[in-house]
Amino acid sequence: MNNRKVRVRFAPSPTGPLHIGGVRTALYNYLFAKQHGGDLIFRLEDTDSNRFVPGAEEYILESFKWLGIKFDEGVSFGGEYGPYRQSERRDIYKKYVKILLDAGKAYIAFDTPEELDKKRAEIDNFQYDASTRMMMRNSLSMPAEEVEALIAAGEKYVVRFKIEPGEKVVVNDIIRGAVTIDSSILDDKVLYKSADELPTYHLANIVDDHLMEVSHVIRGEEWLPSAPLHVLLYRAFGWEDTMPAFAHLSLLLKPEGNGKLSKRDGDRLGFPVFPLEWKDPATGAISSGYRESDYLPEAVINFLALLGWNPGDDVEMMDIDELIKKFDLTHCSKAGARFDYKKMIWFNHEYIIKKADSEIAEIFAPMVQAHGVSVDMPTLTKIVSLMKGRVNFVHELWDASSFYFVAPESYDEKTVKKRWKEDSAAKMGELAALLESLDDFSIENQELRVKEWIESKGYSLGEIMNAFRLTLVGEGKGPQMFDISGILGKEETIARMKRAIEVLG
Ligand code: GLU
Repeated sequence: MNNRKVRVRFAPSPTGPLHIGGVRTALYNYLFAKQHGGDLIFRLEDTDSNRFVPGAEEYILESFKWLGIKFDEGVSFGGEYGPYRQSERRDIYKKYVKILLDAGKAYIAFDTPEELDKKRAEIDNFQYDASTRMMMRNSLSMPAEEVEALIAAGEKYVVRFKIEPGEKVVVNDIIRGAVTIDSSILDDKVLYKSADELPTYHLANIVDDHLMEVSHVIRGEEWLPSAPLHVLLYRAFGWEDTMPAFAHLSLLLKPEGNGKLSKRDGDRLGFPVFPLEWKDPATGAISSGYRESDYLPEAVINFLALLGWNPGDDVEMMDIDELIKKFDLTHCSKAGARFDYKKMIWFNHEYIIKKADSEIAEIFAPMVQAHGVSVDMPTLTKIVSLMKGRVNFVHELWDASSFYFVAPESYDEKTVKKRWKEDSAAKMGELAALLESLDDFSIENQELRVKEWIESKGYSLGEIMNAFRLTLVGEGKGPQMFDISGILGKEETIARMKRAIEVLG
């Protein structure tokens, strides 16, 4: 067991968009697999046709593509353990259901939903288990001929797991340690439904983990009662020796820290809980996604990696290779992880700074174009390098730097009042003439010559620069003046100055 090849899986049900908690689960599986040179499998647990949502599978795959989480095998990736879509594995499950039935470890039950409801009304805290099963309509309480006759007549039935009461079940969990429970608290879970000839989640999940030689089950799902039930199923099949190691991740909590993170928290506080935008096929309702909200996938990955795990030092910025190196499943926290979305925004800011200017410019270019402006990439890259430290999202670069692309149409009143003096027009006229005379319009030369001129005239540097800024930007913001005029170029700089002189007088 210890020297098995690491094989892990992410096994979502296609019931809608992938929640951000599911993304974290997949990420931890990915980090663990890569760290051990193992395989990551993408398996689709689609045996519950009532909950199937069209488009969910494609959505999930596209999310991982965007995030850069790569699978080694599975639905759409191929592999030798397929098919990887559970709805295509009917015959396999039937065989294993029969094994349990033949061994007397499972039984057939005919109780209808109405009959079950009636029992629930009759008996407080009714549970289908050793204490009640003989009162029900099943192959343990009924003669074999009657059971056969009902099946032959096409009566719908389920197969239930026969849980022996009073047994100790130990679940060894990498994150939670050893947890012991008494099997009496478990009910005789339904493993298979004849109506759709499909198993339920529990049976399909462990049969597939066994057949796909999964070595570690890293999941974000509720811990009880699934984990002990799964241990009992492994025992029933005699597969204990190859049972995967379990690691149940902590819950993601609301930003305030109390209670489970939900979509409503995102709506309330303004952050997405899905990787990509999702349009509900039934209602048409749109839920926002990290991609469309202009987050960088690297930032999302880094943030999620630290929800419930940390490297034990103060390092927070880690790219995927570093995460693979440092990730430690045994050091994941069992306490819930607060979803600090402001930290997520901080990560986005840091990744904008960290990423090459040219890459950010590539992302920014279509946004600039959408404003009807065309600009060459070297210039855009230069603008990005000057402005990116000021924004949390790439789209915010437009507001921060639109003055580069569009000449001011009006001049901010407050700034005019403060910065445009009696003699400003005359001084700006002089400055424009000086700039116009420069053959070398480089940032360095402009700075040198303008400062010489200010000194020789005995003008105040602040006063000149403030008025100059007003002429080019229309308000008091922006980077160093010569970084602005240098990018605008001589012609545009002079034109903007002349216009301001005219308008402001
Ligand atoms: N299909 C289950 C889910 O959607 C998989 C849980 C597991 O990883 O075993 O959560």
